[in-house]
Amino acid sequence: MSTTENQIRVRFAPSPTGFLHVGSARTALYNWLYARQNAGVFVLRIEDTDKERNRQEWDKAITESLEWLGLNFDEGPYRQSERTELYRNGIDQLIAQGNTYYCDCTREELEKRTEGKKPGYDGFCRDRGLEKKAGLALRFRVDGTEPVVVQDIIRGDVVFERSAIEDFVIVKGNDDPLFVLANVIDDCEMRISHIIRGEDLLPTTPKALLLWECLSNEPLPKFAHLPMLVNEKRQKLSKRRDPVAIEEYRNSGFLPEVICGYLAILGWSPKDGREMLALDELIEQFSLEDVNHSPAFFDVVKLTHFNGEMIRSLSLEDFIERSSGWVGDNWELSKVTKLIPLVQERVSKLSEIAPMLEFMYEPEIEVDPDTWSKAIEGNPNAKSILQYCLEQFRECDWDSETLKEVVLTAGDKVGLKLGKAQAPVRVAVSGSTVGLPLFESLEALGRDVTSERITNALSKL
Ligand code: GLU
Repeated sequence: MSTTENQIRVRFAPSPTGFLHVGSARTALYNWLYARQNAGVFVLRIEDTDKERNRQEWDKAITESLEWLGLNFDEGPYRQSERTELYRNGIDQLIAQGNTYYCDCTREELEKRTEGKKPGYDGFCRDRGLEKKAGLALRFRVDGTEPVVVQDIIRGDVVFERSAIEDFVIVKGNDDPLFVLANVIDDCEMRISHIIRGEDLLPTTPKALLLWECLSNEPLPKFAHLPMLVNEKRQKLSKRRDPVAIEEYRNSGFLPEVICGYLAILGWSPKDGREMLALDELIEQFSLEDVNHSPAFFDVVKLTHFNGEMIRSLSLEDFIERSSGWVGDNWELSKVTKLIPLVQERVSKLSEIAPMLEFMYEPEIEVDPDTWSKAIEGNPNAKSILQYCLEQFRECDWDSETLKEVVLTAGDKVGLKLGKAQAPVRVAVSGSTVGLPLFESLEALGRDVTSERITNALSKL
């Protein structure tokens, strides 16, 4: 056999019914890794045959998310909506081979007939010889008695009794091919060697195998069904309940390499016990055979922790570069070089940078009424602390050490420790009770602005 015949060809085949789901992203990643470590081909195929549920904007969003994650594809995107002729040919072939029959049973009729009996289609139209007509579904005839065995790389042999597989519909009454048919025809035509996908699709795999045998003389592809992702309650992740869109993580300042690194360990773990590997390390170490089959907990807290760690490990330059787009357009970060490392130490998402630095750039600070009343208006010591600081700040050296001394002394005068004494100053200059270390912040803010903000606060008392 030539090398191309042996080539590993995998595909990611999302249906564009929403943003890229973290579970699908993990599927894409495992396919991508498998292709990259085997000099294979990674195909992107958009399965958009369900006209009612699919939308073009999701198609675009999915491709963008893959790109953002760095999971570049080698072929595609193919779109099933542009390949209907191919499915037509496949259908004609199945009809010509006698693998199918038309069926006019309505759901109600079927339910009535099969009440209390085995669920699924009862084969009523099998031998009725109905001719093709608008509105009639085309069913695949499941013949034979042998069990259908899915040989799964992760799960071993999964056996399905043939008697439990109904004569399933492959073309709807409106002439649209069903998912399983288009999926198999494409996998044949694209010469996919390994089908790596979510466990939720395992129940359709025996049908896929039956179709494959009728449609192709090529050896069956190998299958690997990946474990489900679950939330902290061990429920399957759902887009209504859980934050599952990659887009959402991107928009709140997660780094793509952290998402990939984390998704990689949901179902697989590196031998060296490290938890956060870069893509090139994953290519080297990932092993499809070692993926396990129990559900994997998608832990947002852990992911956030990894993100913070990765942010802290960036060089200052890289951190500044990645901050762009996350801070105001005219915020010159070079103005706050001393503060940047302090920010970098404290954020776990890039979206947290702007709120920390806002006080440096916004001409007017906003104080929420509650904070104002607790730290300043309702604080009996606030006025004297602010007055003392304002006086000293006019003349003192402008460095964080001196500024700290001033606030310490202001606190001493009213019997307060530094922690309590600095609260009114912090609120007066930054609008918040939390944030970057105060004295470094004041140093960066400068004498004039600091004094102006304290004056302003005093004027309201
Ligand atoms: N389009 C299917 C889905 O999004 C995936 C099909 C497959 O990977 O075989 O669920």
